[in-house]
Amino acid sequence: LSSLPKDFRLPPGQRVRLKHLDPGFTAGFGAKEEAGKLLEQGIKRMRAAQHRLYAEDRHAVLIILQAMDAAGKDSTIAHVMAGLNPLGCQAYSFKTPSTEELEHDFLWRTNRNLPARGRIGIFNRSYYEEVLVVRVHPEVLANEKLPPGLVTKEIWQERFEDINCFERYLTRQGTLILKFFLNVSKEEQRKRFLARLDKPQKHWKFSPADIFERRYWDSYVLVYEEMLSHTSTKVAPWYVIPADHKWFSRLAVAEAIVGRLEELGCEYPKLSKAQRAALKAARRALEAEKA
Ligand code: ATP
Ligand code: MG
Repeated sequence: LSSLPKDFRLPPGQRVRLKHLDPGFTAGFGAKEEAGKLLEQGIKRMRAAQHRLYAEDRHAVLIILQAMDAAGKDSTIAHVMAGLNPLGCQAYSFKTPSTEELEHDFLWRTNRNLPARGRIGIFNRSYYEEVLVVRVHPEVLANEKLPPGLVTKEIWQERFEDINCFERYLTRQGTLILKFFLNVSKEEQRKRFLARLDKPQKHWKFSPADIFERRYWDSYVLVYEEMLSHTSTKVAPWYVIPADHKWFSRLAVAEAIVGRLEELGCEYPKLSKAQRAALKAARRALEAEKA
């Protein structure tokens, strides 16, 4: 996998304006086929790295995907995970919180779904919804059962801090966090919604609620910009992935995951003298059976 000419990581502390980031960027790749080949190679390397991660059993990897509707979260997950060993990975979709979940702090349901050591966990949406949909729709915040005195104008800043601390904590516990924002344009979303209406096998994906949410596009842009600006940190930077071309966003996401996984430098466990002796003994026993 040759490196893409651009690193999509957002430097910590930088203010983000989405209008300056092109959703249609393809790094000069003209052909979907070319990108497809690179994606295949990337997925092979990802599988090898996952094998070492699993064998070493020390680090966990948490992959977070956030985006507007129809940006391609689901299909990115499908493509990227297709090459992984299912035993070593898991995916979880965060929906509107249940009654039980609303009885707890917002990270409660996150904790229950974190990947264990050696595993790769993918979050389709995440606790970031707590500074996105919850911020765009005040009635969602009102529904969270917080003590009124704790709901002040500082609440978003406080949530950014809490999220950053939580991610630093996870990092210090051995979790590698990879956060992807799939940056799709409003026009491309319109086309994808129309495609869902055109194709009967895509009808199930269409929800009138998506059209309702689209009316809040500008509000979402603002809260996404705020979120990206405040929660891209040294230990857990955001990757802003151009997402108007699905073949490109898949490649860019795979490339980032492979690079960071390999950087972890996981190794197969080294055996102790006693363990090596046990292997020798096992070999002798098995070979003796032949005779
Ligand atoms: P997706 O669109 O991610 O593929 P989906 O279409 O299968 O998922 P939806 O029910 O449309 O399922 O998406 C999940 C919904 O749950 C979204 O509208 C999202 O904003 C909402 N949601 C997720 N987390 C929270 C949260 N913490 N508080 C309120 N709403 C949330
Ligand atoms: Mg949806």
